[in-house]
Amino acid sequence: MKIALFNTKSYEKDFFERIIGEYSHEITYYDIPLRPESAELARNHDAICIFVNDIADKEVLKKLSELGIKIITLRCAGFNNIDISIAKEYGLRIFRVPSYSPQSVAEHAIALIMTLNRKTHKAYNRVRENNFSLEKLNGFTLYGKTVGVIGTGKIGSAFCTIMKGFGCHILAYDPTESKEMIKIGVQYTTFDFLLQQSDIISLHCPLIPETKHIISKEQFDIMKKGVMLINTSRGALVNTKDAIGALKVGRLGYLGIDVYEQEEQIFFHDMSESIIQDDVISRLLTFPNVLITSHQGFFTNEALEEIVRTTLQNCTDFENGIANDREL
Ligand code: NAD
Repeated sequence: MKIALFNTKSYEKDFFERIIGEYSHEITYYDIPLRPESAELARNHDAICIFVNDIADKEVLKKLSELGIKIITLRCAGFNNIDISIAKEYGLRIFRVPSYSPQSVAEHAIALIMTLNRKTHKAYNRVRENNFSLEKLNGFTLYGKTVGVIGTGKIGSAFCTIMKGFGCHILAYDPTESKEMIKIGVQYTTFDFLLQQSDIISLHCPLIPETKHIISKEQFDIMKKGVMLINTSRGALVNTKDAIGALKVGRLGYLGIDVYEQEEQIFFHDMSESIIQDDVISRLLTFPNVLITSHQGFFTNEALEEIVRTTLQNCTDFENGIANDREL
């Protein structure tokens, strides 16, 4: 099968090239994202492969269908960037990688917590300049703290298990409770109670219409003063302007985000020589208690290998008419 791979980064190409020999597919790598103006590049291919910030809207899907594309393989779990019902109308089959390494994202959430709390990023820079002072580097002990987890699916569950190891008390909110999590001592509660009681809140639910801006001013107002909020899920779960308001008055004591509402224009790009036009992220970057990473939660060697193998296997299964549960 001939696959047009959009938005290719060098690290992805390395993994695809290492593994492609085990499959009977051919890949054309494009470094530009999928957009209405780039969809033409899919001509003479059977499949396209896209990532989180490619856009497969009605216009793009119409073009892909005219070009004879048969399948879209998402090399990620989330699919909020693709209009599924329109794709189905055009007869396009869609596959994804629902789970590659939930632990990698959960561990990144922990990295954000530990860095914000113990300020290792500041200590690293200080010591390199021969400044061995501890002034303002004090953090808090995680043991015994209450951690609120919104969404206890694969990543949320991995996160709960790690936080249990720190000796934290875990409150969770999810419309579907996990028996396994209850067994390890996670306490399910209401959304509001979780917000009111938690010292740290970590988001692990998907972005769907009901969860857009699930954390806005109303929610910040009932959180504990000085709470830490971690978002490794999807940017639009949090109303970023309201988060800035909560940071300015100290209601929000720490903010760690791996995802951002308007990340498409910024994340995954080297903007070091550009003038950033997004004033919201620029304001966020001025706070000493905000840590931003650019959607790297998934970014481990193990996860990359799993993403590549599952993506290629999805193409093989389609070719051989084998049904799998990774089709949307
Ligand atoms: P999952 O489907 O296993 O779990 C999602 C959980 O959220 C489910 O248990 C579901 O019941 C729950 N949920 C749904 N609506 C909810 C609501 N309104 N309130 C609370 N919980 C709700 O998904 P997962 O694999 O754990 O991934 C979670 C999210 O992480 C994905 O949707 C994706 O956006 C994000 N993600 C981020 C990265 C990254 O690199 N930062 C990588 C992979 C996934």
